Amino acid sequence: MELKIQGVGMTYPNGKQALKDLNLELKSPSLIGLLGPNGAGKSTLMKLLVAALLPTAGTILVDGQPLVKHERAFKERLGYLPQEFGLFDELSVTQFLDYMAALKGLRQPKAAIREVIESVRLEEKAKAKIRTLSGGQRQRVGIAQALLGNPPFLILDEPTVGLDPEERIHFRNLFSRTAQDRLVLLSTHIIEDVQSVCDQLVVIHQGRSLFTGTPEQLIHLAQGHVGVFWERDAGQEQGLHITARVNTGQGIRCRAVAAQLPAFVKVEEPTLEDAYLYLLSREVSA
Ligand code: ADP
Repeated sequence: MELKIQGVGMTYPNGKQALKDLNLELKSPSLIGLLGPNGAGKSTLMKLLVAALLPTAGTILVDGQPLVKHERAFKERLGYLPQEFGLFDELSVTQFLDYMAALKGLRQPKAAIREVIESVRLEEKAKAKIRTLSGGQRQRVGIAQALLGNPPFLILDEPTVGLDPEERIHFRNLFSRTAQDRLVLLSTHIIEDVQSVCDQLVVIHQGRSLFTGTPEQLIHLAQGHVGVFWERDAGQEQGLHITARVNTGQGIRCRAVAAQLPAFVKVEEPTLEDAYLYLLSREVSA
């Protein structure tokens, strides 16, 4: 499966331009992390990819065919977890998944439902009403419905919101397993979610793509632009983007990113988070 996003723009009816001239190529198998601060345009892009919105400029091609012309066939191959996911509170987990399986036209719904309930580890809650579930458990039901029927293309909008750290690790592993033979696009603003599992990253900011490549390439980009120093006077920070400030017994130790680091900053190896913050800081300074 191959998706080509060519010169895509999206301007909402109120005039807000959420995406500007976006060009991306996504190919399976891959687990792609879509990163960007709140308001960057991540959800808008995902809505365009599931044809819930039509772009106001450009084209989206699925395996070489325009998405708008083959929307129905494409949707059959798609699992989608939207950001606001309305669940049917009075239904049990199984009843809800049964309903979703019917909407998707699954031939063997019982086996498919059992499989997804197991993948998200909700066996004990299979008969519980959705209204009795915790936030994290509800999110797991949302992920389960996206996985129903093993779609070759999965779009997950902030899938780890509301999950506790242990659950987040479980889901990262689940996503990386599911991406072995398909295309999974997951959006997040949490770096740890993409750190060890995504083979590709797309960073967007204010509707524009800032970076597409592997996590290693992003880290490479920030080499020589990340460092630490001891805080002495306030003027010292000019031109630096402080990414962490730690109170230690010997004073305040700062971590910073900048296009050019002054001599008092000791250069350090960038983490993925540093690299991401460096990329965004270049936009703020520009
Ligand atoms: P993200 O998912 O990265 O937080 P969104 O795609 O939700 O970003 O939003 C991108 C921009 O588009 C934001 O400025 C947001 O306020 C705006 N936006 C989103 N949905 C609408 C809408 N339906 N009408 C007008 N503006 C919108």
